[in-house]
Amino acid sequence: MNTSQQTKNTDMPAHILTVEDEAAIRDMVKFALERHGHSVHNSGSVSEARHLMATQEMDLAIVDWMLPGGSGLEFVRSLRKDPLYNNLPIIMLTARTEEHDITAGLDAGADDYLTKPFSPRELHSRIKALLRRSRDFKGDATIVHGPLSLDIAAHRLTANGEEVTLGHTEFKLLSFLMKNPDRVYSRTQLLDHVWGPGTFIEERTVDVHILRLRKSLKPHGADSMLDTVRGAGYRFTHL
Ligand code: CA
Repeated sequence: MNTSQQTKNTDMPAHILTVEDEAAIRDMVKFALERHGHSVHNSGSVSEARHLMATQEMDLAIVDWMLPGGSGLEFVRSLRKDPLYNNLPIIMLTARTEEHDITAGLDAGADDYLTKPFSPRELHSRIKALLRRSRDFKGDATIVHGPLSLDIAAHRLTANGEEVTLGHTEFKLLSFLMKNPDRVYSRTQLLDHVWGPGTFIEERTVDVHILRLRKSLKPHGADSMLDTVRGAGYRFTHL
C-alpha cells in the first residue's frame, strides 16, 4: 500500500518565457514544461522576447547566453534594471565553453543556470524550486529591523527612510537574513538558501556579496547589523 506515499505533482501553472536561438532546445523545453501544465512562450531573439513580454506577464524566463543581435547577459541585465522585471526568476543556459563566465551571469541578475546539454527533468526541478521561492517571496510584506525597512514586493530597501541602492544578489541575501535574524548561517547554507541548492558557486562569492552589502549599509550606520561569526559564517542582528 504505497499509493499514499506518492508525491503529488504540485506545480502551479506558470507562464514561462524562453529566449533561445536553437530551435531544437526551444522545442525540447516547451515539450518538457507543457507536460507539467505550464504555458511556454518561445522566442529566438531578444526582440522577439520583448514582443511576447509586452502582451503576456511572465512568471519565469529561460535565457540563452549567446543570442543573435545581443547577448543574453545584456538582456538579463536590462530586465533587472526594469522595475517591472527586477523580481522575475531567470535561468541562464550556457554552453560548456562559457561556463567559466557564469559568475558574470549571476552578477547580472540570473537566479540560476544550466549547462547544455541538460535533461528536461533537471530543468523542471530547477524551475519548480525557483517558482516556489518566488511565490514565497511575493507573499511577504515589509520587514522592519531597526533602521532598515525592506519592501519585498517593491524590491526596495530604506534606512531611516532613505532609499538604499542594492544589487540584485545583495537584495536577495539581505532579504533572507532579515527574514531569519539572530541565527548564524554558514556560507554553504547561504548559497543554498539565497542562490538555490545545487548551484556550484565558490563560497568566497558569499563574502564578496556580504562586503558589497556592508558597503551599501555603512553610510546609514547599519553595516554593523551584519555580523561575521568567526569560523561559522554570518548573522543578521538587531542593532
Ligand atoms: Ca545560442
